[in-house]
Amino acid sequence: MEENNRNSNNGVLKVILVSAILAFIVGVLVLVSGILHRKDPVNSGGNTESAVESVSGSSVTESSESLPSVSGNMIPVTGIPENPDSSAAESVPEEEEDKILVCIDPGHETEQIKDPEPNGPGSDVMKQGVTSGTYGETSGKNEYEVNLEVSLKLRDELLERGYDVVMTREINDVKLSNVDRAKIAEEAGADILVRIHCNGVDNHSVTGVLCYGPSNANPYLSEDLIAKSRRLSELLQQHQAEKTGQRMIDNIYQDDMTGINWAAMPVSIVEMGFMTNPDEDLFLASEEGQDLIVQGLADGIDAYFAEFPEAEE
Ligand SMILES: [Zn+2]
Repeated sequence: MEENNRNSNNGVLKVILVSAILAFIVGVLVLVSGILHRKDPVNSGGNTESAVESVSGSSVTESSESLPSVSGNMIPVTGIPENPDSSAAESVPEEEEDKILVCIDPGHETEQIKDPEPNGPGSDVMKQGVTSGTYGETSGKNEYEVNLEVSLKLRDELLERGYDVVMTREINDVKLSNVDRAKIAEEAGADILVRIHCNGVDNHSVTGVLCYGPSNANPYLSEDLIAKSRRLSELLQQHQAEKTGQRMIDNIYQDDMTGINWAAMPVSIVEMGFMTNPDEDLFLASEEGQDLIVQGLADGIDAYFAEFPEAEE
């Protein structure tokens, strides 16, 4: 096909060729004048692509250096001066839409709820709505008090880190069963549910942090929710222990926890430590201890969403 029309196409080809050469020369002139103008020896021998890249890259750096008060967010605006208003307006709602929603459930409340409720959706097994929780003899605090103190601090830390947060309770005197709490998380559309608890056991020498999650055979949760809940449990435990220096006890994966079985999103129960151990009790009740725990749990949540950035189910 190329051979047949060679002669008749000669004139056209010449015109195209001349135009292309002219366009190339103009392009080279523009590029060379740009390089000379910048007086940057690094780019003088580079090819077109890398020269263009480093020109635009260094011009951003230059403009931000010359304007020391400009924050990182403002750099795109200074780079597109012809329409600064629209690009500034677009960036604000975009950030708000992308926020991850964490539901924090501070375990227990002032009065226990003795009325039973199904242990899982459709289950015949009935469990008490909410138990009274453990108690710290040394600190003199109830578990529900420590759980709320840590949860409120965790809320503030997560808000600071750019998350949205929904709380199942922000006071101790409420009447919320474990099913109620899971429903609050579901109705809010939370991406994860983190349930905050303290442990208690007869042997007062026992210390350490552990998490509860579903077993791999949990009949109420999808495979995806089970896997994510277990990973969330691992990360929360690891990062809390890393920050506080507490011992890690084996996480417990079982299917008799109402607040896990009713969850519509990845869920974990953090048992932050043992209030039945005098030292750990004081640690859990202290400002310093709570601050460390909060940093660790927030790190664990960061790590979780680094692994599962598409939080929406
Ligand atoms: Zn508890």
